[in-house]
Amino acid sequence: MSESAASAETTMENLVALSKRRGFIFPSSEIYGGFNGFFDYGPLGSELKKNIRDCWWDDMVRRRDDIVGLESSIIMHPKVWEASGHVDGFTDPLVDCKESKVRYRADQLFFAPVVVEANTVGYVSALESERTTEELQEKAETMKRKKAVQGTLAPVEPKDFTEAREDEYALIPSPATGEPGSLTAPRSFNMMFQTNVGAMTDGSSVAYLRPETAQGMFVDFKNVVDTGRVELPFGIAQIGKSVRNEITPRNFIFRSREFEQMEMEYFIHEDADWEKEHKIWIQWCWDWLKSIGLPESHLSLFDHEKAKLAFYSRGTTDIMFKYPFGVQELWGIAARGNYDLTQHANASGKSHEIFDEATKKKFVPHVIEPAVGVDRIFLAILCAAYAEEEVTDDKGKTETRTVLRLSPRIAPVKVAVLPLLKNKEELTTRAKALYKKLQRRYAVFYDEAGAIGRRYRRQDEIGTPWCVTIDFDTIEKEGDTFTLRERDSMEQKRITEAELLTMLDEHVY
Ligand code: ATP
Repeated sequence: MSESAASAETTMENLVALSKRRGFIFPSSEIYGGFNGFFDYGPLGSELKKNIRDCWWDDMVRRRDDIVGLESSIIMHPKVWEASGHVDGFTDPLVDCKESKVRYRADQLFFAPVVVEANTVGYVSALESERTTEELQEKAETMKRKKAVQGTLAPVEPKDFTEAREDEYALIPSPATGEPGSLTAPRSFNMMFQTNVGAMTDGSSVAYLRPETAQGMFVDFKNVVDTGRVELPFGIAQIGKSVRNEITPRNFIFRSREFEQMEMEYFIHEDADWEKEHKIWIQWCWDWLKSIGLPESHLSLFDHEKAKLAFYSRGTTDIMFKYPFGVQELWGIAARGNYDLTQHANASGKSHEIFDEATKKKFVPHVIEPAVGVDRIFLAILCAAYAEEEVTDDKGKTETRTVLRLSPRIAPVKVAVLPLLKNKEELTTRAKALYKKLQRRYAVFYDEAGAIGRRYRRQDEIGTPWCVTIDFDTIEKEGDTFTLRERDSMEQKRITEAELLTMLDEHVY
């Protein structure tokens, strides 16, 4: 169950409000009331998201010699999903409330017997949150009081609904109504979205929208090996949209029905030390998250219990992030053996073996898979970067400044160019010239409206690392220098155009 993690000012309300106010994220189809589990990324959000993708692609693919890229189709042959096991097994346990018609994921619906002096006097339930145990305890106390039962109440022992006994289903209250008797037994719900391809809509035309990008890499493995001049160990990486019919999309963009994944399949020799390779990739992912500005204080590792893994899986470690709603999975790094390639070899009848010159043997490579969601990184970045702080201006006035401490690598705007005054042509002309020059390489913003302090604040709120002000010293003194104002320290210093370009080159990569 989740643990509480929110710092005082980083609440989900604040992040959702900022995202809407400054054009990072909007609810999808908002003018029609929104569409649960779907989101749109606005002008600043689409820039930030692109920067996350670009940094990953550059570091994962372009700056390495052993990894190549791929862009496979979203709708693949339905046999792909039969072979991969998704048609039969990509399910979540679903519970219906017959009364309210609300649906729950059984593993997110918690319950506990209310036990007084070793007697069970009823049941309480609550949805998973960072306060699940406290909420169940409070409900148990209320029940004891209402039923006027004498004696000591035992501390609640929460379980999720998948652990409920059959005779308990009817006794556990529905979170929607607060009354027992309306919850069904859990049943498997397949999360793949179905569609029909072609003019017919009968069973023969059923196809699926991909719930992960990974299968593309397995299905195209032979094509890449035959054409890509790759040698083991090597990886195939892909960034793309995936969709899952999540039963309970929630926590803003953390769990949505349409999201974007960045996945890489790293193929290794069957005799390679997979534990070593697995560790190398866990470290790589950890370091990469740090390189885009996520603080280590918010990161942790979670090793999945071997007994709970799929039979083919050798080990899975998740990098977890402290979101305001608890510590949750950000990035899964799985050692999957040769299961996927073997499944596709068997189902397609096409060999997926590689010939090893050293041993003169053929074998199916094994794989390490780091799989992460762009949207979850986006949310983690917002959570870690958001701050509200008291600042005092030159006139001694104190106010709250909202600031996004984004890494220059992923900030949607790298530099704001600000002429000190709007109606002084020499200032605006010099500012526009600088703006045009920077625009050739960087996302920059030109702003001449309002007091300079207010313009700085507007940039702080969207995470712009630097503001450059073209002032009277620029045009009157020698050296053509500007005021460079740094977002986090708010310090100001003079800088030349050449120095500015060198600084950007160093920090934005
Ligand atoms: P969870 O247990 O949270 O549902 P998962 O273990 O099913 O996630 P994977 O199938 O391993 O997730 O997918 C790889 C990555 O894709 C996850 O680590 C996560 O970052 C992202 N992801 C998965 N499902 C969603 C979703 N519904 N919304 C946003 N991102 C998602």
